[in-house]
Amino acid sequence: MTKKYDYLIVGAGLFGSVFAYEANKRGKKCLVIDKKEHIGGHIYCENIEGINVHKYGAHIFHTSNEEIWEYVNQFADFNRYINSPIANYKGEIYNLPFNMNTFNKLWGVVSPQEAKEKIEEQRKKAGVEDPQNLEEQAISLVGTDIYEKLIKGYTEKQWGRKATELPAFIIKRLPVRLTYDNNYFNDKYQGIPIGGYNVIIENMLDGIDIKLETDFFDNRKELSELADKIVFTGMIDEYYDFKYGHLEYRSLEFENELLNIDNYQGNAVVNYTDRETPYTRILEHKHFEFGKQDKTIITKEYPSEWEFGDDPYYPVNDDKNNKLFEKYKGLADKENVIFGGRLADYHYYDMHHVIFHALDTIKKVFKNY
Ligand code: FAD
Ligand code: UDP
Repeated sequence: MTKKYDYLIVGAGLFGSVFAYEANKRGKKCLVIDKKEHIGGHIYCENIEGINVHKYGAHIFHTSNEEIWEYVNQFADFNRYINSPIANYKGEIYNLPFNMNTFNKLWGVVSPQEAKEKIEEQRKKAGVEDPQNLEEQAISLVGTDIYEKLIKGYTEKQWGRKATELPAFIIKRLPVRLTYDNNYFNDKYQGIPIGGYNVIIENMLDGIDIKLETDFFDNRKELSELADKIVFTGMIDEYYDFKYGHLEYRSLEFENELLNIDNYQGNAVVNYTDRETPYTRILEHKHFEFGKQDKTIITKEYPSEWEFGDDPYYPVNDDKNNKLFEKYKGLADKENVIFGGRLADYHYYDMHHVIFHALDTIKKVFKNY
């Protein structure tokens, strides 16, 4: 019996939306479902007072892959936003990522050579030779002063664990530069979609059937019967009813405030790097789009432990969880289902990675792109 749809796509986030757009373009009939009340997954923006509020945290699109940049530009125009967050340590302001502006403010050094010597002197004094954890990695990259003021407190709040218990790779995400350059990313292309991220997802899903507030697991059998094949972008352990146990995540809570002033902090992102302030950062959304509104919306971001039922944000890719993921992946590899996106792959992907993986999946499924 022919089914109503070729694909049932579980999740209207970026992975599900790229897959749906490409399959639809190839004449396949798709149904996209999401348990949330909106499309877009974590890149969704809520428009409040004409300001696009990044509902699930600050999202800046960046990539060095020209193909991905051209791809995403089909769906929206991008502005010239460059992410340059500021660190606030007990009222002292520093530029991020760690660069000559940071080193100058902290130590008064002016030349790259002086900065290098200062970092080397602190690394030696701390006795770090072969970094084994985040603390040692950070000290080896930028020295103890920066570690103490700009990294330790922020990291321990963010991850709810001691910096000595965290893997070194986390801190390697941040550039360290001996130039006066405050661009947080090294990528060739960067920006925010004009009109917000919803424009991208709405254009991708245009003309495709969507059912919101529909949890796959509430009606698994009936939903599965609607389509020849399933594309699953939810949590891989949930797909298997947690038979080997739960994968762990870090979660976030957001507190929004609408303020009757036009400019609260003069920057889209300010990180609070001390241990005592309970939030990690304050976002001021209008600055992502150079907004001229009379009012402003700010969001305080509080990291929290994740429990089943909370929105999963950051996968905890430590050895224990990675091993558990591999067990689920072993099952998934034998299944006639397409798994993709950050929850099914249990991986911290940026948006450009997700698009890359979705297009790669399309190439494999349709044997071309
Ligand atoms: P998601 O967006 O999570 O989509 C999955 C969808 O599946 C969700 O809508 C979910 O509701 C739905 N779903 C799950 N289970 C079910 C079910 N059982 N039934 C129905 N629906 C279900 N990337 C960048 O490139 N730049 C940034 O600056 C950046 N900042 C970030 C900041 C934060 C705080 C976080 C957490 C992430 C950030 N990212 C950033 C990463 C970016 O959010 C992701 O790469 C991207 O959104 C992942 O898309 P996805 O489709 O894989 O997952
Ligand atoms: N980090 C820090 N101080 C900062 C910003 C980041 O110590 O002011 C560390 C922290 O451990 C964080 C990691 O660097 O988890 C990666 O930072 P990034 O900004 O990439 O984190 P994300 O935006 O993904 O939360």
